[in-house]
Amino acid sequence: GAQPGGLYSPGDALVLLQVDTLERRVLNSSSAWLVEFYASWCGHCVHFAPTWRALAADIQEWSPAVNLGVVNCADIANQKACKKFGITGFPTLKFFKAFSKSPEDGTKIFHPGDSIQNLRQSIITNLEMHKETWPPACPPLEPASVEEIRGFFQTNNVMYLALIFEANDSFVGREVTLDMLQYENVAVRRVLSSEEELVKKYGVTAFPSGFLLINNGTFSRIPVKMEARSFYTYFLRRLPGVTRGPYAPTSAPDTPIKSTLTPRRPADRSKVYMADLESALHYALRVEVARFSVLTGERVRALKDFVTVLAKYFPGRPFVQNFLRSVDRWLRNMRESRIPYSALERVLTNRKEGQAPEVLSNNMTWVGCQGSKPHFRGYPCSLWTLFHLLTVQATRYRRLGTGPLEVLGAMRGYVWSFFGCRECAQHFEGMAAESMDKVRSVDKAVLWLWSRHNRVNARLAGTETEDPEFPKLQWPPPDLCPLCHGVVNRRHVWDEAAVLRFLKAHFSPANIILDYTE
Ligand code: FAD
Repeated sequence: GAQPGGLYSPGDALVLLQVDTLERRVLNSSSAWLVEFYASWCGHCVHFAPTWRALAADIQEWSPAVNLGVVNCADIANQKACKKFGITGFPTLKFFKAFSKSPEDGTKIFHPGDSIQNLRQSIITNLEMHKETWPPACPPLEPASVEEIRGFFQTNNVMYLALIFEANDSFVGREVTLDMLQYENVAVRRVLSSEEELVKKYGVTAFPSGFLLINNGTFSRIPVKMEARSFYTYFLRRLPGVTRGPYAPTSAPDTPIKSTLTPRRPADRSKVYMADLESALHYALRVEVARFSVLTGERVRALKDFVTVLAKYFPGRPFVQNFLRSVDRWLRNMRESRIPYSALERVLTNRKEGQAPEVLSNNMTWVGCQGSKPHFRGYPCSLWTLFHLLTVQATRYRRLGTGPLEVLGAMRGYVWSFFGCRECAQHFEGMAAESMDKVRSVDKAVLWLWSRHNRVNARLAGTETEDPEFPKLQWPPPDLCPLCHGVVNRRHVWDEAAVLRFLKAHFSPANIILDYTE
């Protein structure tokens, strides 16, 4: 299917799922599925995509025992579906056994770093968890017994049987078994090194090692340069009489690719755009918070704090300010410790007579935060911008405030409870835990966020999440603020007083462009 702005394309060896295909393909399927739920704006998803793509290519021929799919949860059209599947952070990998009935049947797979091998082994381990509903196309993966091998050619109509002798914790035998599932006239079984009778019978001395049995009763060692998966597979696929069977490889996306190319909107880097800020509000309240059907405990507190600072400091158009204040009032009056999102949603979409259709538009429009490609910038860029703006606004309305940590604390809580990029949230929480509570004034709060954001910029500069047209610089660059930069002993230093003046001017209502006309 189509994935506008997604990280994957139909050329990848995986199934591009979306709202209309997710349930139809994944549930009640005779295949097991491993699905990556991602958000195209999430840097760690961008970082993980090459691994997922390579894994898909690597196990392409394990289909239809198991299929790999992807869903872009940042695509507005898919949001309800992602919620239904219980996705709260990105990327999330979920394994669905064959014949899974409901979205809840998926089990989360922890993805340990970027290792294709670990993911492959995790797929095998999950395939083995099938009980009655073994995927019909999946060959047996359990170790072979003496009896099974003895009668093998009587009960199986194949010319060859490959035996991979290996230690219990080795995955080579199962990998080769799956590699060969689309091929006819050959079967593969693993034999454990502890299966003494077979080990003795074939004179096996090294593990792993492979033996080829032919249905005429002969057998020989599989001649390979290295006792490894790819060598065995390559050898077996080229045996005379071995041909590809009826299983069609996964292909054929069932809908043609729609592309929603948004036009590039020229933006001035010295300005802040209201369109980005309102899009951030929309995405935060209507999408990120909405992933939780019921808000409890820490999340209720985080939402209340977030909305309170928005109601106090967001320099929005009057109807947006009214809207934020009414949501804030409603939340404050909520005494219960659990808030169903549906109740909040009614408040968020509540329209008054004669009021503009909906205060938060249903579309995101990125202007200052527009990337050169749809998966760059966008939401995370707007969230930074929003919080910088709020820290600055808190310095202008000190009398409204409750102290230097008010906005920073709200940001910390929001990011920790709701920000879908979970690894970003962890990094940010790390920085917050280290030094946030040492911030002693609202001015210092502005500078704290500025300097932590620059740390993130430094960490991400040159990585694949960087939009080549918007390189991650230490900010503000000299052309925006010449006075911010100085040199002492030939080393660059920031003039923090100048930086603070600059931030207060940059993130001020006067510097916000309100109307963005296309
Ligand atoms: P952004 O860094 O998003 O900046 C947005 C805008 O803010 C810039 O265009 C500029 O106008 C202004 N700006 C830039 N630097 C500063 C500054 N120091 N002070 C004030 N204003 C500034 N991505 C990851 O891949 N890994 C992470 O761990 C990660 N952690 C994140 C944590 C948080 C809390 C957030 C909100 C985002 C995080 N991200 C992370 C996303 C990443 O920081 C960027 O937001 C994203 O890559 C988009 O980058 P961008 O080029 O639009 O600029």
